Amino acid sequence: MDPNIDLVTKLVMADPGLPRPNPTKSYWQHVPHALANVQSATLPAERNYVIIGSGISGLSVAKNLLERHSSATVTILEARTLCSGATGRNGGQMAANVGEEYSHLADAHGPEMAGKIVAFTFRNLEKMQDLIREYDAVEASEMQRLQKLRAFLTEDTFRDFKKSIARLLSDHPSWEGLYKIIEKDALIKDHGIHGAAGGALLPAATVWPYRLVTKVFAALMDKYPNRLTIETNTPVTAVKNDPNSATPITSAFPYTIRTTRGPIRASNVVYCTNGYTGHLLPNLRGRVHPFKGTMTVQDPGKEIENRGKSTSWGFHYPITYDPKTKESGHGLYYLGQSVKTGYFYLGGENARIEHVVSADDSFVDKNSVTHLQTILPQFFGKSVPCKVVSSWSGIMGFSSDGLPLVGRLPKALTGRSGEGEWIAAAFNGYGMANCLMCGEELVSAILGDRKSDWLPGAYRLGQERLRDVLIAPESIKALTSKL
Ligand SMILES: Cc1cc2nc3c(=O)[nH]c(=O)nc-3n(C[C@H](O)[C@H](O)[C@H](O)COP(=O)(O)OP(=O)(O)OC[C@H]3O[C@@H](n4cnc5c(N)ncnc54)[C@H](O)[C@@H]3O)c2cc1C
Repeated sequence: MDPNIDLVTKLVMADPGLPRPNPTKSYWQHVPHALANVQSATLPAERNYVIIGSGISGLSVAKNLLERHSSATVTILEARTLCSGATGRNGGQMAANVGEEYSHLADAHGPEMAGKIVAFTFRNLEKMQDLIREYDAVEASEMQRLQKLRAFLTEDTFRDFKKSIARLLSDHPSWEGLYKIIEKDALIKDHGIHGAAGGALLPAATVWPYRLVTKVFAALMDKYPNRLTIETNTPVTAVKNDPNSATPITSAFPYTIRTTRGPIRASNVVYCTNGYTGHLLPNLRGRVHPFKGTMTVQDPGKEIENRGKSTSWGFHYPITYDPKTKESGHGLYYLGQSVKTGYFYLGGENARIEHVVSADDSFVDKNSVTHLQTILPQFFGKSVPCKVVSSWSGIMGFSSDGLPLVGRLPKALTGRSGEGEWIAAAFNGYGMANCLMCGEELVSAILGDRKSDWLPGAYRLGQERLRDVLIAPESIKALTSKL
């Protein structure tokens, strides 16, 4: 067997394990929220809904269940501190990637479905801003509405991007004006960006995601003290609905969720476990795999002007592979700038595949950090490296077909009978553009309480998807093509 295929197969099929107890320190969490370690004295015995995971997906599912079901009892089980997964360790970019992905989406799913995904993503981003305003979190989360400047480092990537946008507009003319294409000269002259073949501006925002999510959790705890508990530092080790298990089964609470603090029984279990999902649902290994991202905070000093109020950036380049070091560059650097400090929040990966297809955020890939430090000044036409203030890693969930998984889990994935297991996971690096509404739509399916046409059918767990594209060989093919 090709050694690369062998290695990638082992990596994607591996048990991601539980979230590591000693993660790297994310700058976003340097002042922990008062609820960081919240838990009840003892776990509640029975709940209508147990949600596993306290990131933005878990938040959205909890909020919608509590608001839309007047008596539902909800418990969130979180392995580590509150919001300590990808949501508390990401890039803070609220931006869509559907423009550059449109051609690929239309090829795979047809123009109508691709159009639904575009509409869903932009609607989700609007709803994120609504949520921030509703919870009076504009200041706390330092939200900035701005333009994202996507720059393409090679002629080929720029050409493909322009083709994708042209196809989007030809299929869906109502999006005319969303992307403003910028040619190379204007990129340097008007935007001070060097070394790129061209770019585009699109409406976007930046946010301090940890502060947003913890603030909304705190408000929910205040509003629903008798119906919501959050149990941090409570890893879930197994989910069962086995009638022969030691715990008695009642029809109202058929699921037993085993945790390190004892069991809890539930009518429904919702997995918002992102890159760790395969630990509790082994049949999803390979279909969803962890993808470890690297983030840095860098201080440019007085070298680079502070444009955090008006601009965030994404730099796209063809995937690279160095056969000597076996390091791959994964095609994107993303960055925003703090209005208050001028610090850049810059993420991207340049690492060996075993350091990327990994659920271990207890260390940072040093090569990726050095790489991120080296490339930053170049974009702005400077030569002095910025000072790294902080670096950390975080675990994303990637699916074999690049789309989130939203809906009821069939027996083929749980290995259990029963109708009460649900999932919203695998946002392929774009959770801020998807999770909120995926949670909302999942709750519509759980409660059966309102018809909504927003959720793209391609996100659901239909039979064809499970058979044809949500399969381990597709993950393996996508990853080995990068080596
Ligand atoms: C480095 C990095 C940069 C990123 N940058 C961006 C960006 O700029 N913009 C963007 O849109 N997206 C970005 N993302 C992706 C985005 O952060 C995610 O898609 C999104 O946060 C997913 O939210 P979630 O709630 O589904 O998962 P998470 O936030 O990962 O939450 C899952 C939670 O489940 C818990 N959990 C898992 N298993 C168990 C278990 N067995 N028991 C108990 N608890 C468990 C975990 O501890 C975790 O807290 C980035 C991600 C990373 C890692």
